[in-house]
Amino acid sequence: MAFTHDLIVLGGGSGGLAGAFRAARLGARVALLEPGALGGTCVNVGCVPKKAMWYAAQMADAQNLAHDYGFDLTPGKLDWPAFIARRTAYIERIHTSYRTRLATAGIEVVAARGTLVDAQTVEAAGRELRAPHVIIATGAHARRLDVPGFDLGIDSDGFFDLRACPERVAVIGGGYIGVELAGVLHALGAEVDLLVHSRLLRHFDDEVTDALVELLRVQGIGVHLGCSVQGLRRDADRLRVAASADLSDRRYDTVLWAVGREPNSAGLGLENAGVACDERGHVRVDASQNTNVPGIYAIGDVTAGPALTPVAIAAARQLAERVFGGHADARLDFSNIPTVVFAHPPLASVGLTEQAARGQFGADVHCYRSRFTPMPLALSDTSYKAFMKLVCAGADERVVGVHALCPGADEMIQGFAVALKAGARKADFDATVAVHPSASEELVLME
Ligand code: FAD
Repeated sequence: MAFTHDLIVLGGGSGGLAGAFRAARLGARVALLEPGALGGTCVNVGCVPKKAMWYAAQMADAQNLAHDYGFDLTPGKLDWPAFIARRTAYIERIHTSYRTRLATAGIEVVAARGTLVDAQTVEAAGRELRAPHVIIATGAHARRLDVPGFDLGIDSDGFFDLRACPERVAVIGGGYIGVELAGVLHALGAEVDLLVHSRLLRHFDDEVTDALVELLRVQGIGVHLGCSVQGLRRDADRLRVAASADLSDRRYDTVLWAVGREPNSAGLGLENAGVACDERGHVRVDASQNTNVPGIYAIGDVTAGPALTPVAIAAARQLAERVFGGHADARLDFSNIPTVVFAHPPLASVGLTEQAARGQFGADVHCYRSRFTPMPLALSDTSYKAFMKLVCAGADERVVGVHALCPGADEMIQGFAVALKAGARKADFDATVAVHPSASEELVLME
């Protein structure tokens, strides 16, 4: 049977859209399959609505700061329904923009789930599409612990459905989603307990996450480390959490699961084409996003790579360049990927943690640190310590890690990621004139 397209993309999220657009620009006839809202997790139930809530939470904090500075105001509460209407309208504008761009690019959008029939055939909405190339970009979904009463809690999708701020919340999970949603809820007026099975943010530098734990506690979030949750139960109109930590006096309006995500690899017909997954269900890929089946590729959260939107996008574009652009070696370099945890203040990181650097370079690692009160807070009644750390390796002290927990760290880290990519040494940081007064100057003034 003849091919209907050059490329079929399963999933219209961050990675799928990026791959489809780049392939179409390179002349490929593309079909994009998406049963839900265009933009996938990031646009609809991830980065975008999360950052909107983070901005709202920052405004709440800023009101308290402004009051301390002497502004004649009483910090007010957020009108959730009004703000969520704005958030929704913003997301709808993104959908409209995608629809226009897809039509302009000549990409056929099929609003249906796709299932592989064989390596070159995808069934969707009763149609059979055929192409020599298929990208699996179906993302992931939130998981919950398999404990009694697990369904009494909501997950991050449910967080975005909230229409009022709950009074008392237990957030279960110490990954970045747990930390971020706990911070937003706390800033917007909820009493929050954060229940963390082992360490907070396990993949981040230990010293930086210790500083974050201290800061969250100063802010009034109940951080329970080493806490294993055994179940949830209803108690009148509230919820109780059975856990290894003593929460016997706590009754919550909302319990939020943030214990990780699972790949959307079931029900795709992968077995019909012989595509292999790992033990956690991630589609197995090599460094060029190839699965074990020629012509079938996978990108983004359905694979085991870093689950970040820019990673899915960059991997998809490189893949399209390789398959349709004649760039045989095009592939994403997974080193030095900057990342931000949108806490209050944000925690930003690029490169290696001290633990990882010591694993790689042994004793030849030197760290520099700065702990300081951020200036906007020094002028207020509330105060906490910001923390920054440089991890350097080798005789020439190449900077292999930059970690910052301070106001503005989210915007700062992008430039330092360029410096790491360029192979900057500590001496280059030292030779850079500081911006004063600023928090970022700390990174070039460490001794
Ligand atoms: P997705 O964006 O999830 O898209 C997959 C799409 O595939 C979905 O739209 C789904 O409907 C569709 N699909 C599923 N099955 C099929 C099928 N059979 N056929 C066709 N289509 C199918 N990342 C950041 O970089 N920064 C952040 O600040 C950030 N914040 C986040 C906050 C939250 C609460 C969450 C949950 C995630 C966040 N992420 C963030 C992660 C980011 O959203 C993901 O890494 C990114 O969306 C992955 O893109 P993707 O294309 O792999 O998958």
